[in-house]
Amino acid sequence: MSIDLLEGNPKEKLGFDPNELRAKYRYERDKRLREEGNAQYQEVADEFASYTDDPYTEWVERDPLNDEVQVAIIGGGFGGLLMGGRLREAGFDDIRVIEKAGDFGGTWYWNRYPGAMCDVESYCYLPLLEELNYIPKHKYSYAPEIFEHSKAIARHYDLYKNACLQTGVSEMRWDDSSGRWIIHTDRGDAIRAQFVAMANGPLNRPKLPGIPGIATFKGHTFHTSRWDYDYTGGDSDGNLTGLRDKRVAIIGTGATAVQCIPHLGEWAKHLYVLQRTPSSIDVRNNRETESDFAQQLEPGWQQRRMDNFNILVSGGDQDEDLVSDGWTEIFRNLTGIAAKTASRELGRRLSSREKGQLMELLDFQKMNQVRDRAEAIVNDPDTAAALKPWYRQFCKRPCFHDEYLPTFNRPNVTLVDTDGRGVERITERGIVANGTEYPVDCIVFATGFEVGTSYTRRAGYEITGRNGLSLTDKWAKGWRTLFGLQANGFPNCFFLGFTQTALSVNVPHALNEQAKHVTYILDQARQRGATRIEATLEAEDMWLAEMKDKSRIAERFYAECTPGYYNNEGKLDTNNGFFAGTYGAGPIKFFRILDDWRSTGRLEGVELT
Ligand code: NDP
Repeated sequence: MSIDLLEGNPKEKLGFDPNELRAKYRYERDKRLREEGNAQYQEVADEFASYTDDPYTEWVERDPLNDEVQVAIIGGGFGGLLMGGRLREAGFDDIRVIEKAGDFGGTWYWNRYPGAMCDVESYCYLPLLEELNYIPKHKYSYAPEIFEHSKAIARHYDLYKNACLQTGVSEMRWDDSSGRWIIHTDRGDAIRAQFVAMANGPLNRPKLPGIPGIATFKGHTFHTSRWDYDYTGGDSDGNLTGLRDKRVAIIGTGATAVQCIPHLGEWAKHLYVLQRTPSSIDVRNNRETESDFAQQLEPGWQQRRMDNFNILVSGGDQDEDLVSDGWTEIFRNLTGIAAKTASRELGRRLSSREKGQLMELLDFQKMNQVRDRAEAIVNDPDTAAALKPWYRQFCKRPCFHDEYLPTFNRPNVTLVDTDGRGVERITERGIVANGTEYPVDCIVFATGFEVGTSYTRRAGYEITGRNGLSLTDKWAKGWRTLFGLQANGFPNCFFLGFTQTALSVNVPHALNEQAKHVTYILDQARQRGATRIEATLEAEDMWLAEMKDKSRIAERFYAECTPGYYNNEGKLDTNNGFFAGTYGAGPIKFFRILDDWRSTGRLEGVELT
């Protein structure tokens, strides 16, 4: 692709009219904008609270604890596991992981729906592969393997010792006189901790659609993150024999639904897929790990592969693309790398207008390819047309799957496209969409997770810092942190995740950098004999200014996008939305900032006492 695309009559050169496409995207977005924004969703609380019950592990009674640990880690997913692992490596012994689930694994503990897998390459995504001497079985791992790997990490670093599983934190309060956090739980525990690392996860709290009548349905329902295999039969590999005589509806067509719909389609007597906005579905092309893969690897291979992938999916250049998949392809072709290539061809820098135009044209081309794929695979022309996404590639999370689109060729599968309106009503008997009632036995909610609600609501408990300041109040008007990891008023407390840190397509990579940084700070405190560590207000101001400065490009991009959790359901909120919590200059720059900060040894902006 070269810059001459921008010259002459684009319609003739491209085979499509960019103005028409632009107008179509806007029309499709406007149709979906809803006045209620994020408030359209039903919180999983009160009469809906049981949607978050753990269907996977039997409840084990235990006596309440009233004791003390040096470091409490809240959350046993990849954030908590990496934090625990890095602390162990640095010689911290007195660690306790507190986890609501019955085991380690986080998202991979909860998300066991049929077909669950990770679409980021396993050799990059599964953390600590060299430390554990493990090579994943496929290029893209299935959920059970990732869950097993999570448990293996916990065993490797001895994190089961002293852990409190099946334990939900109910409150966390700083006691200034003793310099300890007091963590109360739903088990009646009162655990004192000198340091706390919060690894609650960015998409941890399921949400339901606020559809009128949702509570009146007399059939069976569950959320994809709490799959009811007692009802459906089978397991993560499929084999859902319990659905042979069932009419099933699934609400939602995001990344989760895309993975489980092929299995529902295979086993349900009839499947209705209720669609509001189609996902972009590109080629998956999974394969088994080649038998000689491990033999070619040199020590340090995983970090090198992760770095190579991270640079490419952050718009940077690399001589070699080690992963070479759909992710690296779209980033290579739709981001700054493409502009750099065009600029080289042209022998001059592109103006920012030219750059913007080029990016848009390339995006149109890519999405045309995605739309053509739907048309080529799905037999019924109306169904194929309804499965075409009309927005830019990164407006919603790109999906990669080879069995999703063919599922709509099954005679027992009906796509109910709601033309952006969503499900109208739920009745005692089923679902109403486009004025038609579809009687069903079971409704599966593939409606995602809370984003953009307050941190403490998503965590499920309040955190009260110095001078009685609650975290809810502190962040009521938006995040305030130093590098996303520390906050003034909350000494000895560290936040992992996307609370003003950088997002990477490979989330565990980002969590690993955060865990290393927190470990460095705790190690420094130990070496210097400090017992309290707290970010200053000035340091928060500095980071807030940097966050705001770097957020403008993403804000402009997402303002034009179809609604979703990336853009706060179309009501861009520069304080609380998903991208307000992520650093706009990207992970490469962010990791470098952390590195540089550590290398000075000055702990600038952090008070140690
Ligand atoms: P999403 O939030 O992406 O999708 C929710 C779906 O529910 C959307 O299709 C949404 O439609 C639909 N919906 C919501 N309300 C209604 C309604 N009233 N009527 C009809 N439809 C409705 O959640 P997911 O669980 O699919 O994915 C969440 C994230 O989890 C992903 O973005 C990804 O980051 C991660 N994930 C990663 C995977 C991986 O391979 N690594 C696999 C699966 C998930 P609309 O689009 O119109 O809002």
